Amino acid sequence: MWDFETDPEYQDKLDWAADFMRTRVEPLQYVINHPLDLQDPVRQELVPELQAEVRRHGLWGTHLGPEVGGPGYGQVKLALLNEILGRSGPGPSIGPVVFGTAAPDTGNAEIIAHYGSEEQKGRYLKPLVDGTMFSAFSMTEPQGGSDPKTFTTRAELDGDEWVINGEKWFSSNGRWAEVLVLLAVTDPDAPILERMSMFLVPKDTPGVEIVRHVGVSGWVEGEGGGDHSYIRYRDVRIPRDYILGEVGKGFEVAQTRLSGGRVHHAMRSVGHMKAAFEMMTERVQSRFTQGEQLAQKQIVQEMIADAWITIEQTRLLVMQTAWKIDRLQNYRAVRKDIAASKIAAARALVDVASKALQIHGSLGITQEMPFVSMIVNGIHVGLADGPSEIHKLTIARDLLRDVEPSPGLWPTQHIPALVDEARSLYAEALTRHGR
Ligand SMILES: Cc1cc2nc3c(=O)[nH]c(=O)nc-3n(C[C@H](O)[C@H](O)[C@H](O)COP(=O)(O)OP(=O)(O)OC[C@H]3O[C@@H](n4cnc5c(N)ncnc54)[C@H](O)[C@@H]3O)c2cc1C
Repeated sequence: MWDFETDPEYQDKLDWAADFMRTRVEPLQYVINHPLDLQDPVRQELVPELQAEVRRHGLWGTHLGPEVGGPGYGQVKLALLNEILGRSGPGPSIGPVVFGTAAPDTGNAEIIAHYGSEEQKGRYLKPLVDGTMFSAFSMTEPQGGSDPKTFTTRAELDGDEWVINGEKWFSSNGRWAEVLVLLAVTDPDAPILERMSMFLVPKDTPGVEIVRHVGVSGWVEGEGGGDHSYIRYRDVRIPRDYILGEVGKGFEVAQTRLSGGRVHHAMRSVGHMKAAFEMMTERVQSRFTQGEQLAQKQIVQEMIADAWITIEQTRLLVMQTAWKIDRLQNYRAVRKDIAASKIAAARALVDVASKALQIHGSLGITQEMPFVSMIVNGIHVGLADGPSEIHKLTIARDLLRDVEPSPGLWPTQHIPALVDEARSLYAEALTRHGR
């Protein structure tokens, strides 16, 4: 059965969320410093109020199950909501913060809920879910992010403590985080899937040094610059039970964390490109050149049509992926779909935002319009959680797994052989007609 409808009760919630985003949440980004800056009094006055309103509408922390205070929505419902939240951006943006679904806290809360001890859950889960504490995910290292085999940050047991040494690069939200979810090598001689373990490191632990907080070009990241932290761990000592999950299972924990988040990011990217598209359509109706609206130019019309097709294709792929996850309840079985959604969303956001920028001419490239930030956001989606190239390898591997080589020299669809086969199958009819 094919069905592209949203149940009316949930649609009402989505309609409320869409209106709330436009009228109350989006304006916030122009008056607060950073969505996670708890020291900003304006942020502290306005954001909790809006978060309370989201809770009253039952849309807070929708990625979480009821056991940790969320409604336990499936991926289809989450995707539809993320599309709306993505108007303000797929990455570090105000929408997901107001709705309690901001990365990396979403994924970090998810793995603490899944693998955490009761003590760890008690310490971190509630504040992360409530949005009163923030976390960072410390996996990528300066010498390489795409290939976990290059990671060298080491955690060694010394009595009842782990001692951590190494460097991590681009731990997003490191500036605001109280806890760092850290992937470190615990057995350098083990095969890659058993080499690393996950840890929960309070940021104020002695030996955690912030080398610097790095900013992304093209993004306005609040006072004080970026928040993708370059962190040095120098003889950092944490108690033995600060490990998250079992020793050697860090890679598995990391994978659990990233799957759902990729779909949410992809759908937020769809929301973001739809915002760009809206601006683009308004502009072509408003701007005149050579005596007619931009909308009358055929090349402009082609850009509008192509952008819309791109958005719809991407949206369908992501929604189908969400639907498959709900159906199969197994992220591994949908790995290639998740990878494809992530790649397609990144590409489409860059494409649509570039067209929207072009349509706005010189105004489009200025800081007075959001297009450069949108394009960088597209590039960001194509890099973070693993670059598109790596995800393409996953897709190809999956697609080729069950494909057999042709039995002989020629392809099975080699036309001369197919003609011979067809002739022998329909020999009688051919003979009757003298062919
Ligand atoms: C905005 C943003 C937020 C991020 N947040 C976090 C975070 O919170 N925590 C964290 O740990 N990391 C984070 N990252 C880092 C991210 O995971 C890495 O950027 C990513 O894994 C790529 O690693 P790298 O940057 O070291 O690139 P490299 O590994 O040096 O790769 C560079 C490029 O080489 C190409 N490439 C790599 N491997 C292959 C291959 N096998 N075949 C073909 N081409 C290849 C790709 O084009 C890739 O972009 C973030 C990145 C961005 C941009």
